Amino acid sequence: MSDTGGGHRAAAQALQSAFAVRYPGQFQVEIVDLWAEYTPWPVNQLPRLYSPIVAHALWLWKLLWIVSENERTISFLRRLLYLICRNNLQKILQEHRPRLIISVHPLTQHIPLHLLAKEGVHLPFVTVVTDLISTNHNWFHAQVDRCFVASEAAADAARRRGLQPHQVRLLGLPIRPVFAEPLPARETVRASLGLTNAGLIALLVGGGEGMGPVAAIAHAVAKRLAATGTSGELVVICGRNQRLRRELQRTDWPIPVQVHGFVDNMPEWMAASDCIITKAGPGTIAEALICGLPILLSGFIPGQEEGNVPFVVDNGVGAYCDSPAGIAAIVSSWGGPEREKLAQMAARARRLGHPQAVYDIVDEIVELL
Ligand code: UDP
Repeated sequence: MSDTGGGHRAAAQALQSAFAVRYPGQFQVEIVDLWAEYTPWPVNQLPRLYSPIVAHALWLWKLLWIVSENERTISFLRRLLYLICRNNLQKILQEHRPRLIISVHPLTQHIPLHLLAKEGVHLPFVTVVTDLISTNHNWFHAQVDRCFVASEAAADAARRRGLQPHQVRLLGLPIRPVFAEPLPARETVRASLGLTNAGLIALLVGGGEGMGPVAAIAHAVAKRLAATGTSGELVVICGRNQRLRRELQRTDWPIPVQVHGFVDNMPEWMAASDCIITKAGPGTIAEALICGLPILLSGFIPGQEEGNVPFVVDNGVGAYCDSPAGIAAIVSSWGGPEREKLAQMAARARRLGHPQAVYDIVDEIVELL
């Protein structure tokens, strides 16, 4: 994997936990950031550029995405990177001595498989795609033993890149095993989280990094609920964005609002809420579906998150709106006249969720061994 955003490490850790739960003591799962740990300077600095680019220069991210989709350019870059990095890369095999390799990143297929071929090492190699709908073609390599995907769109993309039907398995995203456990009862979990309001509980998140216009949305929603007299409470999870947390914790709100930093009990917050407002992160969407939570998408990262918007809207499990005032209007109507619609979206979401996917993936990987 590589730490570009939080999702790839989260998927790796989810698989690691599932191995530990399902096959205690039988497997040692080591998580390696290939680009940061096994490439020389300056290549090892590249993963760090991802978050600032996505947060502050989306135009540049769009450009890089387009370049990465170009087969000629990307295969030239791969050859160049391999030449620069091969001595460092060889150490992965020496230091970890794997019996099987799982890739959970679009940029850890081609180069590791090339390395294995050059070294004459024969190991099962598996890709677990951590994007939902829109998948960069670097995810797919015809030589993998299995490629696990979470949607028909991703399965089609894999087949278009030359993977055979038996290589492609559609099982869902590898979400943390805790989401596979029964959800706590709503009233109990609300009380334990200090949520006293009997009305609508809206959960607002911006991925692991607290990205996007979270503050503007929080202000707009609180103002609107107060102005329309809609009974409701807002929970804002700022993730690792400390500045955002401090700013929102200092605010004097017109309705009850809880503000938190990075939380370790996301299943509880989701179980307690009536809807979630989030950027179109695949992890959060998949978790919200498992929890039967209608999803109001407030934005998306161009490229990998683009297809998640029609996925949510067309499946009738939520809506998309990128203006804080528009988001506030939707939340207020979900808490008022559109309560029935909210309940229908919740039921559809629950049907779309794949709580067991991480175990299903691990079981198939073990079968390969
Ligand atoms: N998350 C969490 N605690 C927080 C904020 C986020 O556990 O305080 C988790 C969230 O449950 C999800 C992941 O971080 O599993 C965010 O993944 P997503 O794909 O939605 O967005 P990313 O941060 O990778 O862009």
